[in-house]
Amino acid sequence: MSVEKVIIIGSGPAGLTAAIYAARADLNPLVISGPQLGGQPSITNEVENFPGFPEGITGPELVQKIQKQAERFGARVEFDEVTEVGLSVSSFRIKTHSKEHEAKAIIIATGASARKLGVPGEVKLIGRGVSYCATCDGFFFKEKDVVVVGGGDSALEEALFLTRFASSVRIIHRRDQLRAGPTLQGRAERNQKIDDSWNTVVTQVNGEDGVESRTLKNVKTDETSTLPIDGVFIFIGHVPNAQIFEGQLEMDENGHLLTDKLAHTSVPGVFAAGEVADPIFRQSITSAGEGAKAAIEADKYLAELEDRAYPGRK
Ligand code: NAP
Repeated sequence: MSVEKVIIIGSGPAGLTAAIYAARADLNPLVISGPQLGGQPSITNEVENFPGFPEGITGPELVQKIQKQAERFGARVEFDEVTEVGLSVSSFRIKTHSKEHEAKAIIIATGASARKLGVPGEVKLIGRGVSYCATCDGFFFKEKDVVVVGGGDSALEEALFLTRFASSVRIIHRRDQLRAGPTLQGRAERNQKIDDSWNTVVTQVNGEDGVESRTLKNVKTDETSTLPIDGVFIFIGHVPNAQIFEGQLEMDENGHLLTDKLAHTSVPGVFAAGEVADPIFRQSITSAGEGAKAAIEADKYLAELEDRAYPGRK
């Protein structure tokens, strides 16, 4: 079992920024990547609002740069997934698929995962026409017809990306007004491959070995329709990846970890940053800022821990 000063769980902008700060504070942090090295940006096509990149930057490039910066100062990034944590004593236990660790402080930056629609056929057809990542799967839909579910920035951004490959992209939104900002709305309106269905929900995804059709319902008229389709891309928000902390850390009703302004969770020595604890902003830049805060606080916590262990020494 390795004994670490600080373990950072998660490798998106929050976790990797925490790693930069913790490494520069000489804490020799260990980052356990989670199933998706780089977190959500690693499956995002274009990031246009991260300061310092006036021309924009691809999501994977952004997180690779942050990782490189963290490693330059001594952070170690391990590709592994935490399966179990024990937070009941002041030295914490973390089990991964391959190892067991002990840590004096933990920074949780496990992010969030794509929310599922929860309709029949959806889960069965994941990877066979149902997708939550246009950047990953768009290429497989060359000259095909696809629908995009959702009305937020992600739905529009991914719909625009899909027009590079697909013949047609229909946005299906449950209301008659998009949540997405005006820039993306303008781009989508100008794109001739994009069409939309308002006040409409997907009630079923149909197919055996691949998506063949989708069933829609107009929520105003209750009218239903089943039409052939090749792909269903779903972008309806995210759920925090905090299940492994259930019963050990306080959470809100949607499963986000509760923190104070200083990134402290309900257990001293355990800090949280980024989307796992942020139901509001959910931006790479705010997550990165919270990662920095969490690492600064973890450093202070460890210094105080040492002061208590050696009360006589200055
Ligand atoms: P979001 O803003 O929460 O939008 C989710 C969309 O899915 C909403 O339109 C919502 O409908 C719809 N939805 C939720 N549950 C649904 C369900 N069960 N069935 C059908 N539709 C459902 O999520 P997001 O688009 O992933 O964006 C998350 C954050 O990242 C936002 O702050 C966004 O601004 C940011 N972001 C920014 C950019 C950019 O600036 N380029 C790109 C991507 C994301 P309602 O509208 O009716 O609630």
